[in-house]
Amino acid sequence: MTSLIEKSNSLRDSFDQLADHQQMNHTSTDQHSNHSNQQPQEQKEQQQLLQSWNGTMRAILTPRSSIWRESTQHRDLDRFIKNIKSMDTIPRFGTETPHEAKLAELMDNIDAWGLNIFDVHNYSQSHSLTSVMYTIFKKRNLIETFRISPQKLINYLVTLESHYLDVPYHCSIHAADVTQAIHVLLLIPSFENTFTDLEILAALFAAAIHDVDHPGVTNQYLINSDNELALMYNDTSVLENHSLAVAFKLLQNEDCDFIENLSDEQRKILRQISIDMVLATDMSKHGAIMQTIQSFHQSLKAKQCKDSNSNSSTNDSLVLTEQKERVQLLREMLHCADLSNPTKHLSIYTQWVDRIMDEFHYQGDRERSAGMPISPMCNRRTADIEMAQIGFIQAIVEPLWQMWAQLVYPHCQQMLDNIDSNRQWYEYQISNRSSRNNTSDKTTSQSHDSKEQDKLKGNQSTSSETPSSSNSSKRRTRLLEHWPFRANNTQKC
Ligand SMILES: [Zn+2]
Repeated sequence: MTSLIEKSNSLRDSFDQLADHQQMNHTSTDQHSNHSNQQPQEQKEQQQLLQSWNGTMRAILTPRSSIWRESTQHRDLDRFIKNIKSMDTIPRFGTETPHEAKLAELMDNIDAWGLNIFDVHNYSQSHSLTSVMYTIFKKRNLIETFRISPQKLINYLVTLESHYLDVPYHCSIHAADVTQAIHVLLLIPSFENTFTDLEILAALFAAAIHDVDHPGVTNQYLINSDNELALMYNDTSVLENHSLAVAFKLLQNEDCDFIENLSDEQRKILRQISIDMVLATDMSKHGAIMQTIQSFHQSLKAKQCKDSNSNSSTNDSLVLTEQKERVQLLREMLHCADLSNPTKHLSIYTQWVDRIMDEFHYQGDRERSAGMPISPMCNRRTADIEMAQIGFIQAIVEPLWQMWAQLVYPHCQQMLDNIDSNRQWYEYQISNRSSRNNTSDKTTSQSHDSKEQDKLKGNQSTSSETPSSSNSSKRRTRLLEHWPFRANNTQKC
């Protein structure tokens, strides 16, 4: 069997064909070689253009060593895949590991919110995405339903996983985490009869691929730095478009085409849904998505009211006859899963915070060294991680999840409780450092200006005790009394 490493390399080499489809209709490789009667100068220009474009595509797919310099975990795909001949020889969780028993213990929680994905990653020999996807596919009978070749599924998953870069946050662990979150959200009783098997397959696929080949910098950074990716995708949802292109290109490899037995129509639907869902993960669209969600939920509620008036059934399963409505819901679901770190147990959430801040600071370092303005939250010299998290929760995560939880009430109350508890933990951190600062100030100066402390407290601005600062102070005291706050570790939806 040709080694997967060779296949993976050949996929990188052949990725320039994507350019032929997207941008170079008049200068594709075939056309170029067939047009032997072209003028030499024209041929030369086309050759140069093609080489330049191919170089761009290769650069896009191989930023691994240059863009992130931390030690990388070598993924020996060849060793990993060499013994897989049939389903019987595929390891229980899709990956060879000496810790299979421990992994099995963890996978017992595959249906639970807050599975410790970092442990899964460790015990699966750094193949959390492959093991989570394979386990979910087996559990949901997707392999039988869509006559999927287990061999090709594993080939695809391992290749996909290897195309996630070794960046701190947008790595394969994040993809595994989001995929498992989607799996749990799909299990919510409200959706028992909502989605077709094909839509479930597409949703899991979209989650698994949604950040593949993410270089650990933002869309805006790529645009501001005239990166080749921004040129390729015309500054529009650059990373999201790129991840989709990479994922579907990998699928074109015959040995990785695990959806080969789907009909043309099914493949088309899977592709449409995946594109729709992944493009909606672009954070610049968050505001627009929230507005759409709001009006969508209102229409759903009106529909539910009408249905409950005309039908005495107590089944709370959401039935949506229009596919576009179901896709809207899946889009929203992926956005929630992508922004679910603060809904998890504190011990998991804080690991994600460390990772995203590392990634932001790495981008800030690059911006500083290039003389570019440093993006918000990316300056390691002025970073206020606690305030940033509180802001992130209050402005983005909480409103989104509140809206989601309302729709599926009461099945996601625990996520809201965890958000609240985690926000309080960061508030506690701020009040704690403010207290420390107060104590230190008293020993050095009796007349320290309260404005300095206010800076540490964030946006509270007083030099005397106003009702609002008094309330904040009482709240902080209350937080201290009730410390530590606990979020449930794992819970079923
Ligand atoms: Zn993501």
